[in-house]
Amino acid sequence: MLRKLLTQPSSRRLLSSGIPPLFSKSSLSPFSSLSSSPEPPSSESTTVEHPGTTISVDRSSLYTPPEHSHESTPETELVKHLKNIIKFRDGPISVAEYMEEVLTNPKAGFYMNRDVFGAQGDFITSPEVSQMFGEMIGVWTVCLWEQMGRPERVNLVELGPGRGTLMADLLRGTSKFKNFTESLHIHLVECSPALQKLQHQNLKCTDESSLEKKAISSLAGTPVHWHATLEEVPSGVPTIIIAHEFYDALPVHQFQTQSLQKSSRGWCEKMVDVGEDSQFRFVLSPQPTPAALYLMKRCTWATPEEREKLEHVEISPKSMDLTQEMAKRIGSDGGGALIIDYGMNAIISDSLQAIRKHKFVNILDDPGSADLSAYVDFPSIKHSAEEASENVSVHGPMTQSQFLGSLGINFRVDALLQNCNDEQAESLRAGYWQLVGDGEAPFWEGPHEQTPIGMGTRYLAMTIVNKNQGIPAPFQ
Ligand code: SAH
Repeated sequence: MLRKLLTQPSSRRLLSSGIPPLFSKSSLSPFSSLSSSPEPPSSESTTVEHPGTTISVDRSSLYTPPEHSHESTPETELVKHLKNIIKFRDGPISVAEYMEEVLTNPKAGFYMNRDVFGAQGDFITSPEVSQMFGEMIGVWTVCLWEQMGRPERVNLVELGPGRGTLMADLLRGTSKFKNFTESLHIHLVECSPALQKLQHQNLKCTDESSLEKKAISSLAGTPVHWHATLEEVPSGVPTIIIAHEFYDALPVHQFQTQSLQKSSRGWCEKMVDVGEDSQFRFVLSPQPTPAALYLMKRCTWATPEEREKLEHVEISPKSMDLTQEMAKRIGSDGGGALIIDYGMNAIISDSLQAIRKHKFVNILDDPGSADLSAYVDFPSIKHSAEEASENVSVHGPMTQSQFLGSLGINFRVDALLQNCNDEQAESLRAGYWQLVGDGEAPFWEGPHEQTPIGMGTRYLAMTIVNKNQGIPAPFQ
């Protein structure tokens, strides 16, 4: 059935020529722990100068990831660039710096030059699975706008819009609510010039001024602006922010402690270095690095039971800073944010993963050719927001399944099923189960590795809202 579906219209094609759903980023288990296959120790040690701090790196804790290929292939520009950073700094870089370069290096970052989504790309996301996803986010946005007192002007911000599919479905789905669509100024925060172009196409934009990165979407007659960061989006206007699968792309630092080291060395940071064989490898810093400040902060939000069990911890300072910026805006300008991503309502231990062409690959292998992503630490978002502004409240997380179910996806799928042929109906049901189901969608057969797994419970939804607006649907 799956193979048949690959050659037939998916639920997306009721509105646009989409690509059948394949694997979501959360549909496979995380790559196995790197520390499981230590290399023989080496006696080297290096000192690294970071602004304000000296980090000495103990190269005796070297790890070669399992399955890491040592075949010599020609070095890409990004590999040369990463090696140069490590060489000129005379020491390793953090996993966070590696991740940031791999994903968003202006010349060769994974996202920067191509469409990475769908069957021909590397992974699939919910908006690409079914039009119903963007439509349900549209329902949520209109409800919040009502709760905000129907403001005449709203900045609707999407962080990391990918192909622009979610926003296009949101605008089509809400087009009947004229007062709402007329209030909108859309602001897309996107670092990739290639994806900005795709968003421009998919939102059916006509150019107003390409110099100012501004256009009009003919889907709803709304102005659309592009920015590289949230800070660039004008403030002082009620704001609704959507972040779907954006946080998982933000860089993470990885820390590690072993019971022996707990007392003597404390938390060591895992870093990326170049070995004598010229291959990337992981090393551990012998003592805490500057990023450990964020680790300490995160640990204050952990329960005593959580703290006791910790041996590996992943921290995303960029996620904490972004959340603070969002919360300050929402606190002062009114509005709210919706964050949907795969992650946990707990501290994250070791989740960084690399996906190329719908398969897990090694994190250090051919950087720039595979997506890197990490589980989202939802409690850290909640605490960062609450710390940044007294005027916001945070609700959730709840599962994607509960979120979409409460917003009425069942009614929407029934309505769409009334007006489609058998093939479209099959694809619609498949898309529905992939969005809300857990485990394999019941009517999908085929080889296990090709069977999509539901995103219903792996993906979580959380909202940050201005306190004056009460609790938004469906978080009450
Ligand atoms: N929300 C989309 C795409 C998710 S992939 C969907 O669900 O289909 C992550 C998106 O965030 C991509 O568009 C990527 O180019 C963008 N992105 C990643 N890191 C970014 C950063 N630091 N600044 C701006 N955009 C970023």
